[in-house]
Amino acid sequence: MTLSEERFALPIAWDGHPIVWGDWESVSDLTWCGGVTAHGWRGCRHCHARALPRSILGHVDVGIGPGINLSLFRCMTCGYSTVLEMSEFTDGREWVLDSSDYGLEGSWNVELEQGELVL
Ligand SMILES: [Zn+2]
Repeated sequence: MTLSEERFALPIAWDGHPIVWGDWESVSDLTWCGGVTAHGWRGCRHCHARALPRSILGHVDVGIGPGINLSLFRCMTCGYSTVLEMSEFTDGREWVLDSSDYGLEGSWNVELEQGELVL
């Protein structure tokens, strides 16, 4: 594997800024703001597994302001991963990660290149 083919378990950058990830957590239906089912969780959109995803929080320091907070959710059955992006400029946009987001370049906020924007 060459360096350019290196892949990571999580995106290492967001719009070119390093992401500092926390620890993986189980998503509990009891503790997450009334439960994920209350927030529309009906199973994985990709493989339809009913098991709750795991989540991890990330923070991106963009040099000014409070930065960007990321909440990544991953289906532990198929790996389908979404990121909820929250910042003072973006009011909760959700992205579906694709293989391009796991390389050395990280994930770029170019809507044509950063997977699919889910509305
Ligand atoms: Zn899945």
